[in-house]
Amino acid sequence: MTYRKTTMSMAKLAIAFSLGLTSVVAIAKPGKRDETPASATVIEHVTIVPMTETGGVIADATVVIENGRITSLNGVAPKGAKRLNGKGKWLIPGLTDMHVHLPSDGLPRPPKYPTEAPTFFFDTQDIMTPYIANGVTQLLNLDAVAASVGQRNEIASGKILGPSIALAAVINGAEGRGRIANTPADGRQTVRNIKAEGYDFVKVYSDLNVDTFIAIVEEANRQGMKVLGHIPESFEGQLEKAFVPGFAMVAHAEEFSKQSANFTDEDAKRFARLAKQNGTWVSPTLVTMRWIASETRSLDEMKANPNLKYMHPLLQSKWTTANRYNRNSSPKLIDYFDRMVEFHRRLVKAFKAEGVPIVAGSDALTSGVVGGFSLHEELELMVGVGLSSEEALATATRLPAIWLGVDGDRGTIEVGKRADLVLLNANPLENISNISKIAGVSVDGRWLDRAALDARMADLAKRNEATKADFDFGKIGK
Ligand SMILES: [Zn+2]
Repeated sequence: MTYRKTTMSMAKLAIAFSLGLTSVVAIAKPGKRDETPASATVIEHVTIVPMTETGGVIADATVVIENGRITSLNGVAPKGAKRLNGKGKWLIPGLTDMHVHLPSDGLPRPPKYPTEAPTFFFDTQDIMTPYIANGVTQLLNLDAVAASVGQRNEIASGKILGPSIALAAVINGAEGRGRIANTPADGRQTVRNIKAEGYDFVKVYSDLNVDTFIAIVEEANRQGMKVLGHIPESFEGQLEKAFVPGFAMVAHAEEFSKQSANFTDEDAKRFARLAKQNGTWVSPTLVTMRWIASETRSLDEMKANPNLKYMHPLLQSKWTTANRYNRNSSPKLIDYFDRMVEFHRRLVKAFKAEGVPIVAGSDALTSGVVGGFSLHEELELMVGVGLSSEEALATATRLPAIWLGVDGDRGTIEVGKRADLVLLNANPLENISNISKIAGVSVDGRWLDRAALDARMADLAKRNEATKADFDFGKIGK
């Protein structure tokens, strides 16, 4: 037995307790602290890709995970620990998707009456399982609502196995649902509301006017919140005005390409310089535009995607029967999106050349973009543009942790960091597609091997298939 009577914080104890680890439960009993073994997992003879700034790999390492933390990279297995043979395998930090949308209770339609509770509910575990199965242990939800806070908490409490979630609440202008601000005063008040309601970040959207946008960023700075999102259309022809300090991330390459008449390399360079000068990061979401272009042409590829079965049947129905890209298709639109896909490749090259930090976001929940899988695809697309495999991995590990302000806690493999880890059967630095060859995932120290991941995914697909007939978007979604 190994004892850890002094190092386990109360917070960690609470987490361990909620995970239902019987060996840890005893710790919570008064007087039993000294008798309780730590819950340890050890991965032996593994090659670590730590993704620290210095790079490189650590060969033949012994990674010790105790109480959800990495406690050693060259240790000996504590007695009673779960021991895994990592020979021939590669260990990377858990991946982050910096741009997702998550289904949440209340969707697809708002309540009819002010006091009505939602009438449609998503199973949080079913939303999260594909992320975990793909090694995605952290998400930035760019469309957070009250129900999203509940989702985050269900995971943090250990009731649901899922990624850590950061929450960005949206402010838009003009008219419509959600938080709307059309004056600087309203913009500032809305930022304060978002802060008070417990969200982490402010997302700005396309219909904000210039003055309100700038007031929002200023107020968010004052409140200590980063702003990310779209570049409002009101900045057309005066793009540089949007790059004010505190506008910390542009959420799509498309936000730039919309500001370019002819998709020239000069424009790409100019955009990269604007971002660089302002310290603004970019999440290009190449995979989003790749799927939008495909669906505008035809739904065949999307329908044939073997990962579609992991989406909730209502969303499958929406994507296949009410696909807005396909519905509005025209030769002109197909051509436009194809040219955008191509321009975005040049844009990412320009960002890289200028030294603009790039983070991986997949805009999951856009039609055809299946969360978890889509992040792997985004990294493959980035390598296709000219990032090295290590640079691509950094966009989904170390760099997101820095942007989110959690780099002291995760994003790299180092002693003391949270045990969010992915064990791969092949070297991801040699071929980025090897991130899909997952042997196991550690989520906050909770270990799931391939069989456990497969079982969860098979169960999800089976239940989705069985309930397909009950979820017709044409009837429920209206
Ligand atoms: Zn989005």
